[in-house]
Amino acid sequence: MNIPIELPLDSDGFVRRRCSSCERDFKWHEGPTQGAPADYTYPNVHWCPLCGASEAIDGAWWTAEQKEYIQKLVEAQIPGLVAVEPDGTTNKNANSRFESPSSIGTQPAPLVERDDMQMVAPVCHPWEPVKVPLDSSAPYFCLLCGQTYSL
Ligand SMILES: [Zn+2]
Ligand SMILES: [Zn+2]
Repeated sequence: MNIPIELPLDSDGFVRRRCSSCERDFKWHEGPTQGAPADYTYPNVHWCPLCGASEAIDGAWWTAEQKEYIQKLVEAQIPGLVAVEPDGTTNKNANSRFESPSSIGTQPAPLVERDDMQMVAPVCHPWEPVKVPLDSSAPYFCLLCGQTYSL
């Protein structure tokens, strides 16, 4: 099943991600930044800015909220009706009724990305900043090459 998933961006164009290694949230910029060199070839993986673990760019970077949203999207795609059986004790002639539960066929409310976290930029790839939690601290790891940096 191929369901288009649109994740919300904050006002700077960043999408929230979650590292499956350190289980902390951060944000990366969706698509190339304005300052990205036109000839830059992106790696196949991204490095978590918080712990330095690497993972395929299209890999397991989902936040709990995004997973839940995707799950609801999938459920909303399931066509068909669910049979509701009458209890039969008061009306033996009742036929099975078919009802569509409200949870099926209803698109989940779109996610909203709030403007939180602080933006930090690596020395090695300064045009690819990330947003990290306010309570995190250096050293951070470059999203594109994994090199550590301090602020
Ligand atoms: Zn991490
Ligand atoms: Zn770098």
